[in-house]
Parts: sequence; structure tokens; C-alpha cells
Amino acid sequence: MTTTNGFSDSQESDILGEEEYKVLVKDIGFVPSFWIQSITEDKMEEKYDLTQQYIEEEKPMKDEEEEQEEQEEQEDEYFQELDPAIPVKEEFPGHYNFQVSLGNQDSSKHWTYSQILKKVFINMEETLPLRFKWEPPEDGFLLRTAMVFSLDQYASDPVKRCHNHMATNNPSNRDVDPRIIKHVVRCTHHLTVYEERNEHLSIVTRLNRPQPGSQYVPVCFKFLCKNSCPSGMNRRPTELIFTLEDRNRRILGRRRLPVRVCSCPKRDKKKEEAEIVDTQPEIKKRKLCIPVAKKMMPSCDTHVFNVQLNIVGKENYLAVLKYAYDIMAGQATRTGQFEFFKPYMDDILRKTP
Ligand SMILES: [Zn+2]
Repeated sequence: MTTTNGFSDSQESDILGEEEYKVLVKDIGFVPSFWIQSITEDKMEEKYDLTQQYIEEEKPMKDEEEEQEEQEEQEDEYFQELDPAIPVKEEFPGHYNFQVSLGNQDSSKHWTYSQILKKVFINMEETLPLRFKWEPPEDGFLLRTAMVFSLDQYASDPVKRCHNHMATNNPSNRDVDPRIIKHVVRCTHHLTVYEERNEHLSIVTRLNRPQPGSQYVPVCFKFLCKNSCPSGMNRRPTELIFTLEDRNRRILGRRRLPVRVCSCPKRDKKKEEAEIVDTQPEIKKRKLCIPVAKKMMPSCDTHVFNVQLNIVGKENYLAVLKYAYDIMAGQATRTGQFEFFKPYMDDILRKTP
């Protein structure tokens, strides 16, 4: 029963243990307000608070019977939805049309995104900027982020850092609460609570409404262990599961993003993209055996349409480009006709500022 959200303004002492409460008050008390605002800018602060709050076990609740019953009802519902034995991955936007997208990449060589695989490849300890959106953009929501194994056979195994990266003498663990150390994912948002349930780790970040003029809330993450680390993820593919939750921790929407933490993001991206083509015999067969003129699948409309649109807002403009790119990338993958689609996809990339 961890109904603690770490953010409520009146009940921390009831919900949190005394120790955690002191830590939380101390931390929040010393957070400069400009820092809170600064994380909503496109260029996010690279640093993150190393003394972030941590909630682990159930704590005794209020004495009043009525409130306790009400609380228990909420918790029952919460645990039904969040049984950590096998994390749920199904995406759904929900009533709030919960969406996640990538932030600006600039010229970063530290992470890259594969349109084909819909997957992020990133160096350890580098910042991944993401944008979260929900409609209407009201206050009071929480974002839960959990890293899970992609393959069903490992779905019930908790994702933790390897022994090497968890070692207390590792520089990444300096001044970090020992209970945060095992988390692969850290959020740069200072109002982040680190949770553990039956060994499954997740982090909960408060989502305030977007700043005026913005339609999304930026949140940045860092990864403190590599997928290749033996004794940790041990070469098993992973993904992030994001859930939009209300103050009672009911899940309102869910999104997923496959992520590989590695030493050479670009190289690994290429390699995995090549593998997916190799492991789909149908695609390979068509590529190799069917003459160019007859390559097209009967179901694949290859007529090229030219669209000229006036779109209001840079975000919307980019979203239209991205959608056009994604649907062609998806069709190229399904049909194996990469060569046919590539020039049109490249053209979109050229038009993307
Ligand atoms: Zn590691």
C-alpha cells in the first residue's frame, strides 16, 4: 500500500515514514523555484537532484476508520491495476489522449531513434528528452515510468542495474540514496519518487500542466546501466512503460517506448534494423526473388500524391511530417519495399527543420 505521492501538501507525515518525510521536506525546501521552471524549457537542465525521494514500503495510514476504508478501496483497485508480477504493456491513450513523443535531438550523437524499430538507442548517463501530452492539460496527474523486459519470457523479471554499476564506489552513485542506486532509470525532475514493489522498480513524477504557449510537458530521463551488462539486463531487450495516473494512482493511459542503452547507439541501430529485415523471410524473399517491376504487393498503393497544406503551429507541422514519415516507414517494413519508399521518406526528413 503505497498511496504516497510525495507531493500532497497536507498528509506527508501520515503517509510517509518519518525519515522519508524529513528527507522530502528537506529536499523540496531547498529546491530553487527557477529550477522548476527551467525544466519546462526545450533545453533541459542536464543535472538532476541526487537526493531524490524514495518510497519503498507500506506505511501505516490515518486512524479514522472511514478514511482508511476509502483508502483501502483505492489501494485494492490500485494493486489490481498495477500488479507488478507481470507488467502490462498494452498502449492506450485513454480519455485524456495520453501521448509521448521525443524531444529535440539537436546534433546529439548520444542517442538516436529508429523509425523502423520505433526504438531509442542511447548512451549510458546521457539525457533522453521526452514530451508528454494529455488533453485537457489539467494539473494533478502523475507519470509513472518503469523499465521492463520486452520479451514475454522475461516479463516478470525486475529490471535492475548490474553489480558493477550498483557498486558504491561507482561515480554515478556518489551522494545517491542507496535505495535509488538499483534503478536503471533516473528522472532529472527533482519531484520524482523512486518506488519498489516486489522488487519491481518504477519512478513517479508529478506532471504539472504545460507552461503557457506549450502543449506538452518535457521530462528527461537518464539510464545508469547498459543492456549488455552481465548480471544486469544481460543483453535482454527492454522498454519503458509510461502510465498517466491520477492522484489515486488509477491508470488513465499507457504508452511504451523500446530503449537500448549501449556504447554505440548508431551502430546498434543499424545492426538491429538489418536484423529485422533478415529475420523476416517474407521480406527477404520478396527483395531477392521478385523482379523490380513486379515488386509491389497487390495491396500496396504506390501512387504518389503531392500534398500542400498550411498548418498552424510548428508542433502541428512537425507532427504531420512525422506521421507521414511513420506510415511510410511502417508500410516499407511490412512490404519490404524500402527502396521504393526511401526517397519519399528522405524528402520528408529534408523538410523537417
Ligand atoms: Zn551495468
